[in-house]
Amino acid sequence: MRFSDRKDILKTKNVILISGVALLIILSVFAYLIWGKVRFIYYEATEFTMGTRIRVYISSDEMNPKDLANMVLREFERIDQKFDPYNPESVIYKINHSNDWVDVDKETFALIEAAVGYAKLTEGAFDPALGRIITLWGFDDFSSKNASSLTVPQEKEIKKALQMSGYQNIVLDRENMRIKMLNGAQLDLGAIVKGYALEKSYNIVKSIDKDATGFIDAGGEIKIIGPKYGKTFWVIGIKNPRGTGSIDYIYMKEGSIATSGDYERYFIVDGKRYHHIIDPQTGWPASYARSVTVIARDAVAADVLSTAGFVMAKDWRYVVVHFPELGAQVFMVLSDGSIKKSEGFLAYERKP
Ligand code: ADP
Ligand code: MG
Repeated sequence: MRFSDRKDILKTKNVILISGVALLIILSVFAYLIWGKVRFIYYEATEFTMGTRIRVYISSDEMNPKDLANMVLREFERIDQKFDPYNPESVIYKINHSNDWVDVDKETFALIEAAVGYAKLTEGAFDPALGRIITLWGFDDFSSKNASSLTVPQEKEIKKALQMSGYQNIVLDRENMRIKMLNGAQLDLGAIVKGYALEKSYNIVKSIDKDATGFIDAGGEIKIIGPKYGKTFWVIGIKNPRGTGSIDYIYMKEGSIATSGDYERYFIVDGKRYHHIIDPQTGWPASYARSVTVIARDAVAADVLSTAGFVMAKDWRYVVVHFPELGAQVFMVLSDGSIKKSEGFLAYERKP
């Protein structure tokens, strides 16, 4: 064999080796991309519960995401049945229709105790004992179909319902695990129960797969399960309270966001809008905001504080100081259309 032949063979060997390595790299990249996609296949499930549309968008390595999504929806159904004050089978109905102590389980006691805690914390802007007023306005059994049949109550009816309302009428007996309502007041947990269901179902998902990703959306109130594709932000639009589309976009990898608006449940009489968020001091729909969005770690806090913020909108100075102290950031659209934001909120408006 000539020297040059040997050189040629060596060259060919090298080319084969380099090509082999290159092919291996390309295949690995493909495998990685395909694996990445397989890993993050999202399953979506929706259902109408709690008077709103619940949407679960989830991916998991540990369990079939379809089964996990169903577990979330079953949890929402369970909580709805248990705490809906207008369902005669519920524990809240039982408490509301008894003049005496009612024995409750730990979960019920803890939720009502938390609601009373938030009522105190928000100086009564969030009040879980407005059942009489909510029923008087017709928001207990509201649908867009019956909105046109609703009427504005008379002032004397509102006054009477107010006398039979307020969280001070909730008596908690922790030792004996029982609850009593005074002065004919009735519970309505409508402004906390969605946040509670989000938090509970999130915990169920995380106890099965701590690395699960996705989100749960309960009628615009969202709990992030984990970042998109395990690493990136979910982009959440804040609904324009008048007109269509979004007026802002929020980027989140974790935590909760809730919006309370005057556009969800309302009716119009003589050109005036009457909606479902009641000012506990007056018994009339709170009138200083169109929508209030709150970002917090905890979905219960986000739910409660978006309702409370809506009631307190007249007093932005108070909200912008006290809500961030509770770990909450706020975005408000006031009744004149102007926008207010807490400083910490700005960090969520763009990708850091
Ligand atoms: P949505 O249910 O549209 O997300 P909220 O979380 O603000 O809005 O809850 C509004 C519901 O809470 C009402 O439908 C009513 O049942 C109840 N509610 C109304 N006003 C108050 C209030 N000031 N405090 C506590 N609950 C309220
Ligand atoms: Mg709420």
